[in-house]
Amino acid sequence: MSLATKLSLGIALLVTVSVGSVSLLAFTVSRRSLREQVLSANLTAATLAARAVEQYIADAANIMREAPGQSKLGQEVRRENWPEASKLLEDFLRNFTQFDSVFVRDPQGIIRARVPHAEAVGEDFSFWDFFREAMRTGRLHISGVHVSKADRRSVVSISVPVLDGDNIKGVLVGALSLGRISQLISMIGREDRSVVYVVDGEGLLIAHSGGARAGLPEDMKARPIVQAVMAGKSGTMEFREPDRGESLLGAYVLIPRLGWGVVATKPIWVVYAAANRLGRWLLWMALGCTAAAVLFGWGLARTWTGPLLRFSEPAAGDPVIRVTAESRDEQAVLAPSFNPMAEHLQDSYRDLEREITESKQTEEPIWHGLERVKALHEIDLAITSTLDLRTVLDVLLGKIDSLLPYPVSTTVRLRNRDTGELEPISCLNLNEAVWKEPEWKSGRGLTNVVAETRIPLVVENIYTDPRVRDREFFRRYNLVSYLGLPLMAKRELLGVLSIYRKEEHRFTHEEVEFLSTIAGQAAIAIQNSQLYEETKKQAVELEKSNKVKSEFLSVMSHELRTPLNVVIGYAGMIKDGMFGEINPEQEEGLGKVLKQANDQLTTINSILYATQLEARAIIVDRHPVTLTDFLNHLRSDYDAPLDKELTLNWDYPSELPPVITDSAKLKQILKNLIDNAIKFTERGNVTLSAQYLPQASSVEFKVTDTAIGIPKESLSVIFEKFHQVDSSETRSYGGVGLGLYIVKQLTELLGGDVGVESELGKGSTFAVTIPYEKPVSQDISEKN
Ligand code: ADP
Repeated sequence: MSLATKLSLGIALLVTVSVGSVSLLAFTVSRRSLREQVLSANLTAATLAARAVEQYIADAANIMREAPGQSKLGQEVRRENWPEASKLLEDFLRNFTQFDSVFVRDPQGIIRARVPHAEAVGEDFSFWDFFREAMRTGRLHISGVHVSKADRRSVVSISVPVLDGDNIKGVLVGALSLGRISQLISMIGREDRSVVYVVDGEGLLIAHSGGARAGLPEDMKARPIVQAVMAGKSGTMEFREPDRGESLLGAYVLIPRLGWGVVATKPIWVVYAAANRLGRWLLWMALGCTAAAVLFGWGLARTWTGPLLRFSEPAAGDPVIRVTAESRDEQAVLAPSFNPMAEHLQDSYRDLEREITESKQTEEPIWHGLERVKALHEIDLAITSTLDLRTVLDVLLGKIDSLLPYPVSTTVRLRNRDTGELEPISCLNLNEAVWKEPEWKSGRGLTNVVAETRIPLVVENIYTDPRVRDREFFRRYNLVSYLGLPLMAKRELLGVLSIYRKEEHRFTHEEVEFLSTIAGQAAIAIQNSQLYEETKKQAVELEKSNKVKSEFLSVMSHELRTPLNVVIGYAGMIKDGMFGEINPEQEEGLGKVLKQANDQLTTINSILYATQLEARAIIVDRHPVTLTDFLNHLRSDYDAPLDKELTLNWDYPSELPPVITDSAKLKQILKNLIDNAIKFTERGNVTLSAQYLPQASSVEFKVTDTAIGIPKESLSVIFEKFHQVDSSETRSYGGVGLGLYIVKQLTELLGGDVGVESELGKGSTFAVTIPYEKPVSQDISEKN
């Protein structure tokens, strides 16, 4: 939870608790005071009403008391002149309207005059207590409440004896209407829902305020408040109305003389309505205050925490917080002391930042740890991805340029192995033509120092170093500091890698070490590409010399063959006696000449053929060949008897399938093999066999001999050019080692294969397999 939230909640809680408790207190106090007020108002109303009632009765009593003494009425009663008395009663009633009726009784209790309702005259009322009391005491008597017979209204009878000396001449009775009391108390208990009523000593309702609305029962005894007043007390109480169940606040006052009670009540809900209204108002106020407190608390908290928060979010480009003097609170007071401190802090921060930047520039993390290994690995990958020297150097310089955190110009000079000179090869961020100017072809001084010492060279300022020869060049490119690294591979100096910076800088130990490692890797890559280029050059030269050799062989063979043919031709003619008779010795001599010349011709032909094969000048001419015919034809070439104890066997089926192949090449192959077999076999057998292998879809020819055999170690090389098992000067068999070479080349040209199995001293078997290709056409003609 943020500080602002905490603060605002805290303030809200504080305000809520205080406003809430004050409201609750106000509510309770107001209820209590309202209750007190109402009770006292009720008491006042009841007291006033009691007085009024008392006064009313007392007034009526006074009227009655005065009546016999001062008016003629007394005289007429004493005279027992009842008709006159009746008239006077009428006058009385007219004057005192509070009396419902008035009558006179004689001492016996018989009504003698009465107004109104004269019909009751003569009735005996002696049993009435109020008559008897007046008679007995000879004084005014007020009766209890009773209902007048005449008009069924509640009345109080006031009896007053009419005296004549000590004798009672009669009793004057006035029925005082109690209806008037209701009117009286209605004037007092006018307040809202307030009711004032009067009960007699029996708890019966005499009068009440509020008219019929009050809805009070006749008998009020059941009410606790009435019971209290009937018990002769006065006071206040809260009670529950038995019939309606309503809670009331009431006051009761006893009228002691009459034994009556006056009660003033008000329903509690009416009393508390105002308090409840206040309570509701207070509740809303408390809620309002809480909301206001939350807002205020939040605002206040923001004011306090705002500056704190600004500490955590420094403005872009300005890492230091300042106290603004806009506000007029304590924050502004801080400004004069805090802001200079902040300025100071900012200055220190800037210095620190500068230092960090500088140290970053000089000691980039590239020199350390994983970054360094990664960079080296990248460079290694890049420069070993090609063998082309120029590409290797360009990639190397590009990588160094992108790795270093400051701009540099870089160059590579390589040592010419023959001249020993440091030749300019590749450069970056320099004008290559200017850098390679012939005048400075072998270096501008510092590179030469590196080449001589073979250790890294650091120069902080090129212009103050006496070893620099061409300062003008460096000035032109604004190059100031220098790091030279020898490119060494297997202790051999290949060249120098130079790095120039545009500002004065002393390359640190870390930089030198890191760049030396790069130079070491680069040297290996450079050496590899140099070796590769040398090999490439040699290959080209080899090819060239091969071509020369082939051409030479071709020319030479041709030149040799022509005179040899002439020699053979003439020698043959002389031997055949075409130029005259020759003796047997001459014939034998000529025979030897012819054999040697023929051997030589064969050799020359072989050389010529091999040369052509190498030059890929031999073209395969495929055509349908009937193998049996082809072999029969080949066999006829060997019809002549051999000058050895040797049997030549031909072992092939009479029905061999026709194939498509170059019969001339096939013949050459088989002839070479048969000739070799005959040549190396002194005695025994030479067999040529042929068979069709349908599963392998090929035709196999085998030449088996019982000759000297071939040692195992020579089996793999006898098919190579000019290779012979015995190549010594004193070897016993002729040949130049091309026969099997031609066999192999031709077999491959026909799409076949040749192999040899041999056991030394026992003989060899050469096997040639050519693919079986079935001719499409039926008319197979053999061309040999
Ligand atoms: P060459 O002209 O010497 O015969 P070839 O290429 O025909 O050249 O044969 C290479 C060498 O293989 C021979 O010099 C010989 O030593 C060995 N060779 C070839 N054929 C046979 C064979 N049938 N028996 C034993 N050695 C053989």
